[in-house]
Amino acid sequence: MSSHQLPSYLDPNDLGPWGIYLQQIERVTPYLGSLSRWVETLKRPKRVLIVDVPVELDNGTIAHFEGYRIQHNTSRGPGKGGVRFHQDVTLSEVMALSAWMSIKNAAVGVPYGGAKGGIRLDPKTLNIKELERVTRRYTSEIGIIIGPNKDIPAPDVNTNEQIMAWMMDTYSMNLGSTSTGVVTGKPVALGGSLGRKEATGRGVFVTGAEAAKRLGIELKNARVVVQGFGNVGGIAARLFSEAGAKIIAVQDHKGCLFNESGFNIPELLSYSSQSGSIYNYPHGQAVSQDDFWSIESDFLIPAALENQITIKNANKIKTKIIVEGANGPTTPDADDILKDNGILVIPDVVANAGGVTVSYFEWVQDFSSFFWTEDEINQRLVRVMTEAFTAVWGVAQDKNVSLRTAAYIVACSRILQAREMRGLYP
Ligand code: NAD
Repeated sequence: MSSHQLPSYLDPNDLGPWGIYLQQIERVTPYLGSLSRWVETLKRPKRVLIVDVPVELDNGTIAHFEGYRIQHNTSRGPGKGGVRFHQDVTLSEVMALSAWMSIKNAAVGVPYGGAKGGIRLDPKTLNIKELERVTRRYTSEIGIIIGPNKDIPAPDVNTNEQIMAWMMDTYSMNLGSTSTGVVTGKPVALGGSLGRKEATGRGVFVTGAEAAKRLGIELKNARVVVQGFGNVGGIAARLFSEAGAKIIAVQDHKGCLFNESGFNIPELLSYSSQSGSIYNYPHGQAVSQDDFWSIESDFLIPAALENQITIKNANKIKTKIIVEGANGPTTPDADDILKDNGILVIPDVVANAGGVTVSYFEWVQDFSSFFWTEDEINQRLVRVMTEAFTAVWGVAQDKNVSLRTAAYIVACSRILQAREMRGLYP
């Protein structure tokens, strides 16, 4: 890759997740026809904002955290994407996550560009009041580029409804009027949408079930392995188990558990929410990371962080379908190994798009101040996810490419068509 394609603020020797995203764009470029003329626009974010977030801690010290908000592309609409609080957040990671949002929003056809934000901090080291101060200061700092028609944040790893409520309040206080549509994933009492919390996990389930139908795999008694037991992994596990599947292995940040006859998911969810982890849950056997990846299954759902399925463990994986609940869990090298081993990968940009789809519904409801029932939301979500999966499946069959490349063909074509039609200003 020639370095002229790289923004100068990135270290060319350590591109991190952004390097993975660039490889994915290179793989799709040959399929873009005349639109490939515009492809460079996808290889650099439109706008990168790095902010200092100074906060007084309860012990009297002043802490400084590094915050980011990146708008990768806004050709199809305002920026949209979550905010992550994590001690390992980097510029490269937020750049890649913002770009994957552009691809995801275009792949499922919601009228947004892509954006993402983050703060480099371990939220477990702060108390609730300190966390509120960090969130409010960060929101004020990025307030110059967000807004209901500009860029709409949402929850991601370690951020939740409460954090969205503080963000909405801070933005509204600075504006002088209540602006519910500035963030999604809010509490229902503040203009949030029914079904939003479960939406990503539900989308993972819907796309997994669609793929299973095409491969002739029954959900009843299917063996499911889940990495990450938070919002996405926990809900996906619940829905698969309600459909009769057996969740035989689960991993979170503290360890991995195995149970051949399948976990009682409601019980494990309540244990995990009370104790903060699945660790030490009595009805399962602890297994090592290595063993976790080699457990035989029908579905493997990575729903934790990026870079989990790599050249190091891809060959150990014995599953039929990988449904990427997390963003960027599989590296391109690992993708090749999985393909050679006949494993179907439903890519993140389709599999986990349920969250942003219901975020879109939330934003529409906020603008019209008219709220839909949970049934309506779930039905619309299932329709959008099924249609997106079917379209991507069709392109994959037509062009004999992976579902990931097919999703990128659909998404990049939509983004670059919009780019071409809008033309360059000035
Ligand atoms: P979460 O904070 O609710 O849960 C994260 C889970 O991952 C926790 O169970 C945690 O213990 C586990 N985990 C963290 N580090 C781990 C590690 N090193 N090894 C194994 N497990 C680890 O987060 P979430 O909202 O469920 O998000 C999970 C993934 O899904 C992220 O990649 C996120 O970007 C993606 N995603 C989330 C949404 C959403 O709506 N929440 C939407 C799209 C994509």
